[in-house]
Amino acid sequence: MDNKPFNEQASSAPGIERIRHDTRRRSLTVESITDITPGMRRIILRGDELADFISLAPDDHIKIFISTAEGEERRDYTPRRYDNAARSLTIDFALHEAGPVTRWALGARPGDRLEIGGPRGSAVVSASVKRWLLIGDETALPAIGRRIEESAAGTAITTLAAVTGPLEEQAFETRAELDLRWAHRPLSEATDAAALLTLLSTVDIQPGTFVWIAAEAAVTRDIRNHLLTERGYPLSWMKASGYWVFGNADATEKFG
Ligand SMILES: Cc1cc2nc3c(=O)[nH]c(=O)nc-3n(C[C@H](O)[C@H](O)[C@H](O)COP(=O)(O)OP(=O)(O)OC[C@H]3O[C@@H](n4cnc5c(N)ncnc54)[C@H](O)[C@@H]3O)c2cc1C
Repeated sequence: MDNKPFNEQASSAPGIERIRHDTRRRSLTVESITDITPGMRRIILRGDELADFISLAPDDHIKIFISTAEGEERRDYTPRRYDNAARSLTIDFALHEAGPVTRWALGARPGDRLEIGGPRGSAVVSASVKRWLLIGDETALPAIGRRIEESAAGTAITTLAAVTGPLEEQAFETRAELDLRWAHRPLSEATDAAALLTLLSTVDIQPGTFVWIAAEAAVTRDIRNHLLTERGYPLSWMKASGYWVFGNADATEKFG
């Protein structure tokens, strides 16, 4: 494979600034619940403790704490949107079969309380990056949506997202130049990268593109490996995370 287009790029990785935040727990109240698609529940939380909430990168995460009979469970979720003045925080929950947080989201009612913590930090990719390739499944859509909505004019974003069908496709408002592509596969195939890899084969990745991947861990691994080995894409221009691991509760995976 001819990797020439990317050879020079490998030695000029974009800066990623890691910023720590003071973490504390916040106790919030459910204000509204809307199913933005049949499989994605948006919950807007409110609380005075959000006055100094801070999240500097679209792929930041907070912890959601849920009390169960066995003790306290904690899971990672993306701050989809927040507004300090309005004291509000929006979280999008991808609905699936099991898990304490999904169960909580399915049963949530206005007025319910929710405890959150963090974000502990933000990894902010240099604003010099003007091209993005965002690849992911339902759990990545909150971070993808936030990146799309927060990007400045003059940014080019291609998104490859796997969802169960046309009803799960979302629309985003943005100043960026957006090429939004969807792959359809049933949730039972959420661990199979085939649909996203097929879509990826149609994308001509321009040098200077930061590639961000988040999905079920096996899918993330396959896409990352494909980009590294088949496309010769430099690791320093990629961030890949397993946002969940099939069959394992409370599991995530980071890929170096
Ligand atoms: C940085 C980060 C940000 C994230 N942001 C979001 C977000 O904004 N919105 C969001 O919905 N998710 C997000 N996730 C994924 C979320 O943390 C996991 O899906 C989590 O496991 C859900 O918790 P649970 O209590 O519902 O299920 P768990 O108790 O953790 O898991 C129970 C079972 O469900 C399966 N499972 C877990 N997630 C899924 C899924 N998505 N589809 C099908 N089966 C699943 C597991 O394999 C396990 O067998 C994020 C993950 C990370 C690491």
